[in-house]
Amino acid sequence: MSIQIVPIFDDNYVFILPFEGLAWVIDPGDPIKVSQYLQAHGLQLDAILQTHHHWDHTDGAVALKEKYPSCVVYTPYFQKGRYPVSTHMLKEGDQLNFAGWNFTVMQTPGHTYDHISYYDINRKVLFCGDTLFNMGCGRVFDGSYEQLFLSLQKIKALPDDVQVYCTHEYTLANINFVKSVSISPELLAFEKNCLQKRKQGLYTIPFTLGENKKLNPFLLASDKETFTELRQQKDRRS
Ligand code: ZN
Ligand code: FE
Repeated sequence: MSIQIVPIFDDNYVFILPFEGLAWVIDPGDPIKVSQYLQAHGLQLDAILQTHHHWDHTDGAVALKEKYPSCVVYTPYFQKGRYPVSTHMLKEGDQLNFAGWNFTVMQTPGHTYDHISYYDINRKVLFCGDTLFNMGCGRVFDGSYEQLFLSLQKIKALPDDVQVYCTHEYTLANINFVKSVSISPELLAFEKNCLQKRKQGLYTIPFTLGENKKLNPFLLASDKETFTELRQQKDRRS
């Protein structure tokens, strides 16, 4: 199994799953970077998977579909016009198979009302878009705090050894916020590790779900009121 990470914009990641000359691409916000990658590696785009409708995740879809007309475009259920090149609308429990991947669609609303995640139960890999971040979580846009709380609880119920691929490199800023809420030796060790990675030009994604279950206050929040208060506190900081 191979997951390639292509950084785009200031802090977004596109994930590419290559297999025998074909590729699946998750959240291609930038068509140029994705096309360049596919060409350089001799890959034909087979499918686009979208987690939610924000432009930094979807802006490449139209141009890529034009360039690779046979590619399918998996999206959440949507309002008219939101995903102009969608070919398949997905809902909770839908299955997608490719190259040994076996994704189950999880509805994870909150950041947006339509947000979905892709989970491979055998490979223990989760693509969760802007729902859970390393030591943080997405902001609430057109979803609700309650939805986001429940979506994070749903992710929290997955095994500890799941590798989480979220779409933004927000980890160090997230840790700064967490330090202001609850500081611990484990958190400082985690921060040191992430700082080292960033200094070496490495990503802090993917991350292990189990570590975040212990340290990420958005996963630790015991009820939706606590969660909402925490999320709003973070909104006021950044
Ligand atoms: Zn977003
Ligand atoms: Fe985003």
